[in-house]
Amino acid sequence: MTMRTRFRLVCECGHEGNIILSENDQPYSRMWERYSLEGFDGGSYSVDGSASMDEAFSAMKPRCPKCHRLLTVKDLEL
Ligand SMILES: [Zn+2]
Repeated sequence: MTMRTRFRLVCECGHEGNIILSENDQPYSRMWERYSLEGFDGGSYSVDGSASMDEAFSAMKPRCPKCHRLLTVKDLEL
């Protein structure tokens, strides 16, 4: 089974999107996580085990398609 969590990402210009975190939630199997972007330009990031949001941001480099600003963990709306 895969569990999906969405984190809202809001740029200073008002553009909104999400970071989607997919993770293995099966007990007794190998842990993995996958981060991807929705509504923002950038890459995706997969790890065995678990990663921090800081690691995910530096790997994905999320960029606003409207104002071309690079987003950071501080732009997450928690
Ligand atoms: Zn923007």
